[in-house]
Amino acid sequence: MLINKLPLLEQTQSPKPSHKTKLHFENTSYLQGEKFYKQPLVQKQKRQLSIMKSQTEIKKQIQSITDDSVSKRMQQSKQQQEFQSVDKLQLEFESKYQEQNRTIEDLKLENIKLKMQLEEQEQQIIYLKIINSDLRQQIEISSTDIQIKRIEQEYKDTYRRMDETLRKAIDENYESQIKMKNLQIKSQQLEQFTFMFKQQLTCKFCRKELHNTITVIPCAHNYCQRCVSGYVGRCFACNDDV
Ligand SMILES: [Zn+2]
Ligand SMILES: [Zn+2]
Repeated sequence: MLINKLPLLEQTQSPKPSHKTKLHFENTSYLQGEKFYKQPLVQKQKRQLSIMKSQTEIKKQIQSITDDSVSKRMQQSKQQQEFQSVDKLQLEFESKYQEQNRTIEDLKLENIKLKMQLEEQEQQIIYLKIINSDLRQQIEISSTDIQIKRIEQEYKDTYRRMDETLRKAIDENYESQIKMKNLQIKSQQLEQFTFMFKQQLTCKFCRKELHNTITVIPCAHNYCQRCVSGYVGRCFACNDDV
């Protein structure tokens, strides 16, 4: 736009028209001056008057032309200034427009980048959610595993303790059984001993507690002193010779 206007401005501001009119006026005055010296006096005066008139008119014309020219020039300069200011404004506007366009492009790019980042973050969130659910499942499985293992361990411990108690009981029972057997044996032995002792303390003839004991030799059976029939001649219990 700016480049197209420039030649137009040069044409309008050129001062050629005024120069041409001035040149034309000089030529005519010279020609009329030549004629002026060849005319008679009255005619000369008339001519002079008319020439003066025409000169003043021409001067007026020139003045008006120059005025026009000056006003035109002023107008032109004013227009030029206006054009320049318009151009300046246009330049400013264009630069601002371009700047705004650049800003808009930058913002668009930034928006695209942000959208991509957002999508990435959303994908990451989805990925993290999947991992989270996986981890939860694993934790649940592991927790049940742990619970099962703990129960198993508790069961094993209980079983081991019970087994130990049982073994101990069996052992104790066995020991007590042995003790019982020993006791039984001892008891039997004691009974036998008591029986033998009682027998030894019993008279073989009257079957009562010995009174003034008499021991027969060599069989060692005991009799009361009063039970003479038991030990005189032969032993009553074993029929051995006394
Ligand atoms: Zn007796
Ligand atoms: Zn005897």
